[in-house]
Amino acid sequence: MARAAIDAVVAHARAAAPDECCGLLIGTTDDIVAARPAWNAADDARRRYVVDPKDHFDGRRDARARGLEVVGFYHSHPRSPAAPSETDRAEASYDDYLYLIVGLAAEPPQVACFRLERGNFLEVPFVTVA
Ligand SMILES: [Zn+2]
Repeated sequence: MARAAIDAVVAHARAAAPDECCGLLIGTTDDIVAARPAWNAADDARRRYVVDPKDHFDGRRDARARGLEVVGFYHSHPRSPAAPSETDRAEASYDDYLYLIVGLAAEPPQVACFRLERGNFLEVPFVTVA
């Protein structure tokens, strides 16, 4: 995973706090090269996130134009660890997508990545590259 993508996600998380931020992970299934901010369309953005459907659509179109794909979503937990919440489990719906979570409760922030497989989040180890 590109260091620049992680840095962008953490910066977005800090700027959006105390709300949760969200966005798109762009790349291939093996390599996230960029993060693209999206509007959090949730009515209660302090406790959950909903990636704005238009931002998701636009992100997919722009990624394809670069020979890439949207391979997942990221979002932040302003006050809790980087682990899927009950709400995340209930609302995640894109099987095979990566779900990256930034937890701002710790300093430096925690970053963890999960793959949704048949409705279950499986943690995916990752390395950060320049
Ligand atoms: Zn969450």
